[in-house]
Amino acid sequence: MVLRNEGIIVKTLNDPSKILETMQEFPPDLLLLDVMMPGITGFEVCRMLRQTPRWGDLPIIFLTGQTGVEARLEAFRSGGDDYLPKPVVNEELLTRVKVRLDRSRMLKERSDKDTITGLLLRRAFSEQLNSILAESERINQNFSLCLLDIDHFKKVNDTYGHLAGDKVLAGFGQLLLRRFRVDDLRGRWGGEEFVLAFRRERKEVIHKAIERVLEEFRDIAFTGDEGEIFHCSFSGGLVTFPEDGSTIFELLQKADQRLYKAKKLGRNQIIFQSPDLEQDLEKLSAH
Ligand code: GH3
Ligand code: MG
Ligand code: MG
Repeated sequence: MVLRNEGIIVKTLNDPSKILETMQEFPPDLLLLDVMMPGITGFEVCRMLRQTPRWGDLPIIFLTGQTGVEARLEAFRSGGDDYLPKPVVNEELLTRVKVRLDRSRMLKERSDKDTITGLLLRRAFSEQLNSILAESERINQNFSLCLLDIDHFKKVNDTYGHLAGDKVLAGFGQLLLRRFRVDDLRGRWGGEEFVLAFRRERKEVIHKAIERVLEEFRDIAFTGDEGEIFHCSFSGGLVTFPEDGSTIFELLQKADQRLYKAKKLGRNQIIFQSPDLEQDLEKLSAH
């Protein structure tokens, strides 16, 4: 109640055996852990989380009635960041939680973002994508995923210089940040490849939105190292959960195949249908 009154979203859990799946679906910014719980101690839960790459940096605060030196030491040995004895003083709980949250948000912001484009790095993107998948499975909802790759980017670097290439990446990142909604995920997958994820949406809708961004991107006049003006385009492969795949791996694989197809068909386009389906349609229309 103390935290909720301050606008912090609090999810409580009584069954520690469900902690991993709960945290997957509701990725917390901070965890308050009791020590005495059914079947397992809070120290054990904390140790387990610290060994999970995803939760290695999560701020963890113990809340416990055990106030002896040994319990306090064990809290830190198991990987906890802080320790609050019960009964808790409301103001102290709030202050410690807020200070930890601010600091870890700042650090996370810094390590999650790519400096050139301002987009999420692959690892951070993948984490959030897993949450979208879990949520979509739970409430039986679509989501769309799109892989984008800048066309002939090697030539951009070779012709206009590496610095100009970086400007293109930055410009593309800014465009992606401006053109979609706040809860759409935008990441730099690596090199000149980008990835987008859209909750609730089907690819037919997203296709139109990305085509508009493609038009806008083509219109941007970039400047080469020698002052030359040039333009760029990108290609994309687009998929929807669950019809194109039920795992992130399957979805990415299919998006990659479609991206490859977009390149083969002359670049500068987004493909959202499977080659087979399209061949079938072509055959149908030939008859
Ligand atoms: P395609 O249309 O088939 O995608 O051709 P491409 O030239 O874009 O693809 P390719 O994979 O051959 O080349 C990608 C280039 O992207 C090569 C690499 O030097 C460049 N690149 C990757 N990361 C960066 C970066 O951070 N800055 C700059 N300037 N270039 C980068
Ligand atoms: Mg590439
Ligand atoms: Mg490319």
